[in-house]
Amino acid sequence: MQSVRRSSAAFFIAACVAGLGVAAAAGTAEPAGLFGFSAADGAREVALEQRFDAALDPSDLRSWLKTLSAEPNHVGSPHDKANAELVRDLFRQWGWDAHIEEFEVLYPTLKQHTLELISPTHFTASLSEPPVAGDATSTRTDGLPPYNEYGADGDVTGELVYLNYGMPEDYLALARRGIDVRGKIVITRYGKGWRGLKPKLAQEHGAIACLIYSDPGDDGYANGDIYPQGGWRPPQGVQRGSVLDMATYPGDPLTPGVGATRDAKRLAVSQARTILKIPVMPISYADAQPLLAALGGPVAPGEWRGSLPITYHMGPGPSRVHLAISSDWGLKPLYDVIARIPGSEAPDEWVVRGNHRDGWVFGAWDPLSGHVAMLAEAKAIGVLLKSGWRPRRTLVYASWDGEEPGLLGSTEWAETHAAELQRKAVLYLNSDSNSRGFLHPEGSHSLQHLLNDVARTVKDPQTGVSSEARLRARMLVQGYEKDPTEEKDVAEEKARVARIASKGGDLAIGALGSGSDYTPFLQHLGLTTLSIEYQGEEDQEGVYHSNYDSFDHYVRFGDPDFAYGIAEAETVGHTVLRMVDASVLPLQFSGFASTMRDYVDQLHKLVEEKRTRVAELTVLLDHNDFGLAADPTRVVAAPAREGPVPEVNLAPLDAVLTRLQTSAAAYDGAYTRLASGPISLTTAQRAQLNALLQGMEQRLTDARGLPGRDWYRHFIYAPGVLTGYGVKTLPGVREATEGDRWDEANRYAAITAEVLGAYCVGIDRATALLSASK
Ligand SMILES: [Zn+2]
Repeated sequence: MQSVRRSSAAFFIAACVAGLGVAAAAGTAEPAGLFGFSAADGAREVALEQRFDAALDPSDLRSWLKTLSAEPNHVGSPHDKANAELVRDLFRQWGWDAHIEEFEVLYPTLKQHTLELISPTHFTASLSEPPVAGDATSTRTDGLPPYNEYGADGDVTGELVYLNYGMPEDYLALARRGIDVRGKIVITRYGKGWRGLKPKLAQEHGAIACLIYSDPGDDGYANGDIYPQGGWRPPQGVQRGSVLDMATYPGDPLTPGVGATRDAKRLAVSQARTILKIPVMPISYADAQPLLAALGGPVAPGEWRGSLPITYHMGPGPSRVHLAISSDWGLKPLYDVIARIPGSEAPDEWVVRGNHRDGWVFGAWDPLSGHVAMLAEAKAIGVLLKSGWRPRRTLVYASWDGEEPGLLGSTEWAETHAAELQRKAVLYLNSDSNSRGFLHPEGSHSLQHLLNDVARTVKDPQTGVSSEARLRARMLVQGYEKDPTEEKDVAEEKARVARIASKGGDLAIGALGSGSDYTPFLQHLGLTTLSIEYQGEEDQEGVYHSNYDSFDHYVRFGDPDFAYGIAEAETVGHTVLRMVDASVLPLQFSGFASTMRDYVDQLHKLVEEKRTRVAELTVLLDHNDFGLAADPTRVVAAPAREGPVPEVNLAPLDAVLTRLQTSAAAYDGAYTRLASGPISLTTAQRAQLNALLQGMEQRLTDARGLPGRDWYRHFIYAPGVLTGYGVKTLPGVREATEGDRWDEANRYAAITAEVLGAYCVGIDRATALLSASK
């Protein structure tokens, strides 16, 4: 197995170098060799990567995964601490300087919970996940019971209302039918927006509690066979998860902006803005079905219906529900493992790489599948060390605790070391769940070219082509086979990405929203950031955050021979090695500039589409068309009137983009001449240039922060306030436009243009340094 892999990797590198040689001969600007390396340095780096790959062994990943996921490993569990110690000891054994860094965080754990339907019939929800045949760990009873972290305690009784996905448009649909959730208990289904938004919006609309269930249409039997026959969610599987208001700030709710060290100043629980005031409970579709079946009121609109064998009604009532939750609101310890190898030439430039270690129960997929790939990289780097290699820059590897409740371990560490990270970190590279499938790169677009260069050297285990070639094929096919059920913005993004792929140059990497540990590094500190994972179709969804996210499930449905764990370690490993070894950091700005052009074009289109729609709606309302088109026996009122769409001044953004494209092209050309020889730098010039490049991403941040959430300082990438995990690019302008806050849209268009202007100044300074050295 391994020898096959090794020889094919060597073939790929040879093919890659040869390919570039042809390109250079044909007169393109690309030099022969690796991006960011001279020909001689590039050849040494390729040899280093081959030795790195040879030290990766899939049987290591399998045995680490088995051990780490053998017992429940949530925050505060004995196995979480044991895993931290094991990981620290492994790093030390491989030659790293490793220690455990502790924090103390608010981590409520369930004491007692009840959910019952009290009328028109009686039903008591089981709220538990029974053992499944062939899943060894599912018989254990010491895992966390299903609950939503950071919902409130409470004991409430009320009429039930079905709310579809619980997103803003669902409230509009309710309102048109005269249904109000005030004083009611709402039941929403998982999917569409992030889970924490559902109870947050329910609370804002006056609901007294929120249930969230997994509909079989979203991740159960409607998609494929259920576990254990297939990988999809069984009737009693429950998605646990945090409902912390992470779009405001992630991390420990009691220590916003500062590290949750033992002696940190803490807010009272009642002062924490990110904790909900209403109780929330996640349930299975087995527990949801009797509640939904007992609902009356209007039949739910087509797009609200899931795949349960019932008629979906909206309520309110006659279902009445009693829900009680009480928790222990104590502090719990977090154990981050931090491991280092000091750089030989530039010890104050850090490449930081992390993956979380805590799961909701056993966490084999999420997060340990990514974590074991990270361990494989660390072991292989240890082999390189023993052979005498030293990284030019410092390597910092991190095994985060407490990601699941709200990115706690990474955020507290990032906040504690904020100043040092902002001065020293040249990259934060994250992964989380990893499985059989396609390369899924996201992050800072200044690294798009490097990522593409790396992906051409990694072999896709199933097809034998490179990860880059397979991803390109997928992008092209998805652009061709349009999926009519897809949401508009998803479909548009797929079309954009396919258009870029069809040009034959670099593939587009995605923009980062939130949902894993990169958030504090990218969006709070402004570090250059990447997320690299392999992902398939939806196999994981079926056991996501449940008792069945286990070793047994992963080795059947995730990555049976750990070939994609190896592909992940190779892709991340090569990226990390090039970032620590390149004499000048391998950033490129043309890809960033053209991506920004696309994002600003989207803003223009958004404003125009809004204007057209409002004009159409106004005519329909003026003519009473909704009234005439409606069925008089079923009351669905016309939508509310919307105000006119004024001018949004995007001219400052258009202007700065023209400048950005010119600046980026000048720098990228000069950087290529550096690698190919005509430009050379003195040690002092190189240090100056690297320092400038280290801080480039921070130029995209502004201390004023985003509207209403100043913890988020990045003006290009942010999780959406109304999407949670989903990204909003140019968020200050985009979210204001989407929310009809026109003054804010204009203000943030100007600030975002300023931020991009500062980025251009940085690029121009870097170009000047290169030009002066000719
Ligand atoms: Zn995770």
